[in-house]
Amino acid sequence: MSTPGSTLTSQEVVDIVRTTNYGTWRFQKSWNPLHIVDAKDCTITDGNGKQYLDFSSQLMCSNLGHKNPAVIASIAAQAEELAYAMPGYATTCRAELSKLLLEILPPSLNKFFFTTSGTDANEAAFKIARMYTGKTKIIARYRSYHGSTAGSIAATGDPRRWAMEPRGKQQGVIFAPEVNCYRCPIKHTYPACGIACADYLEHMIRNESDVAAVLVEPIVGTNGVLVPPEEYMPKLRKICDEYGVLLIADEVMTGWGRTGKWFAMEHWGVVPDILTTAKGITSAYVPLGLCATSEKIGAFFQDHYFSHGHTYEAHPMTLAPAVATINEMRRLNLVDRSAELAPYVEAKLRELKAKHPSVGDVRGKGLFWAVELVKNQTTKEPFNTYSDKVSGTPLLVDQIAGKCMADGVIIQAWVSHFVVAPPLIVTREEI
Ligand code: PLP
Repeated sequence: MSTPGSTLTSQEVVDIVRTTNYGTWRFQKSWNPLHIVDAKDCTITDGNGKQYLDFSSQLMCSNLGHKNPAVIASIAAQAEELAYAMPGYATTCRAELSKLLLEILPPSLNKFFFTTSGTDANEAAFKIARMYTGKTKIIARYRSYHGSTAGSIAATGDPRRWAMEPRGKQQGVIFAPEVNCYRCPIKHTYPACGIACADYLEHMIRNESDVAAVLVEPIVGTNGVLVPPEEYMPKLRKICDEYGVLLIADEVMTGWGRTGKWFAMEHWGVVPDILTTAKGITSAYVPLGLCATSEKIGAFFQDHYFSHGHTYEAHPMTLAPAVATINEMRRLNLVDRSAELAPYVEAKLRELKAKHPSVGDVRGKGLFWAVELVKNQTTKEPFNTYSDKVSGTPLLVDQIAGKCMADGVIIQAWVSHFVVAPPLIVTREEI
């Protein structure tokens, strides 16, 4: 089958792409990409005409689903009106998006920097935090992901950072243990622990000099949809306030209704000093990232030189679709819908745990769920490890994702868990 407007066959598309491009996070020889030719709502069509329910939202991005007419129209209209203007100018779409953000974000987060990805939203956050505090160190956590550029990968707690080391270590980042109640890295049990993971982080702050910020994914994404206990974020906020350390919430994956709130930090009533996001802000129709900072940080830069910016910052072609995406999310009430469908998804996934000895844990919020695979439900030994992944050992989770693909469902596989995260427009029937 060939794509309209192209003379290439589907096989030619796959062959050209896999031989001339890099495939992400994998052995290149094992990359056999699916040729996608069409996508509508929650359904994706491949080059052979086969259809799949997209329960990955394409890296947890397509919250609105595919081919939303209002977003498509906004892209066409913006291209007609003004495709590009330097970041130093004001544009109408920039003002409209900023107005919407003031309505949606917590009121204190009222100064915005627009980027083109989650990665560079985090880079902006680090630079802003360091300029504002005059300090260098960022405390991040193990089992986290914050992006692929030098600074953001250095702040990434998972082994994707290793390829950059030892250079990555020079970026002034130190790591706290991840928050994982299923398999606590500091061997405590909730709730008897009294949130010892937050105490550990406080201990780090007390014993380090020069700490600018603590960086967290409110609910850890790629590393396993790790939901912190209720008390963790409020306690962390208190610790940061006590020591004058900024709290940065990386909501690249958890923002925009994915967890049943506009932003995951709302689950605990905690407002960070800096919030970064991307993905769902445009439902990935175009690449946009956002670094939103608090009033006090904004006020600081009134009379301090703001030493950051780039060519595609606040690019009109990225901002207009964000306005349309947010308006559509409101019209369709998708944040509430994500929260309402959560118990149904959870119940269905918990049935898996009851049935299969290899399912160790099921966890998540909204339409963001992980199923963790173990060799033994009692010992909780993971079915596969990152070492298996980089040594080329076949992963159970890849076999499961492959079987799902064969059956017409796309899920997101990662080492020893898979993520179920359909577009927020998904129906009960599709679930
Ligand atoms: N932060 C988190 C929590 C992410 O999940 C990701 C990407 O998956 C990033 C940052 C990097 O965002 P991007 O891939 O848009 O650069």
